Amino acid sequence: MRKVLLLNGNGDVLNFIPWTRAISLVLKGKVTVYEEFEDEVRSQHRSFRIPAVIGLLRMVPFKYSGKVSLSKQNLLIRDRHECQYCGRALSVHNATVDHIVPVSRGGRRVWKNVVAACKPCNSRKGNRTPREARMTPRIRPWVPTRKVVLRQHAVMLGVEKWMPYFAGTSGPLSRSSDLRA
Ligand SMILES: [Zn+2]
Repeated sequence: MRKVLLLNGNGDVLNFIPWTRAISLVLKGKVTVYEEFEDEVRSQHRSFRIPAVIGLLRMVPFKYSGKVSLSKQNLLIRDRHECQYCGRALSVHNATVDHIVPVSRGGRRVWKNVVAACKPCNSRKGNRTPREARMTPRIRPWVPTRKVVLRQHAVMLGVEKWMPYFAGTSGPLSRSSDLRA
């Protein structure tokens, strides 16, 4: 299902929502449409272009400081869908959550102690620390903000029309050429 980028009244990125919800917001007159996809949907009485970017007319209170939950999906987004040991491309199906300092050695399940890893690398590392296993993650793990996760999601889905709305978001991108704002 097409996703639509929802902006706050001041232009800040809020979230991705399903296009059906976006159209209902348009029909209720609660949003302005900034960008559209080429796709059209027809109802009995009229047809609509599916919006790509919509903005609330009013500002809703929203903080980006809210924590991003440590799910495998969000971890994959932060770690660019790559195994942080061998670089292999990962999906939700073949990825594992590697505890850099293993749980059995007192490591915790927190953003700064986990990286995405393929199954072979994870089992090769086993219950060893990076030093013992001589396996160092390619990134220094960081705590993502909600906006960064949303932007990485946008990059992954590859919708050019969204990119300018993420300009100025700090944090690593998947590729340096990804943000063509
Ligand atoms: Zn690997």
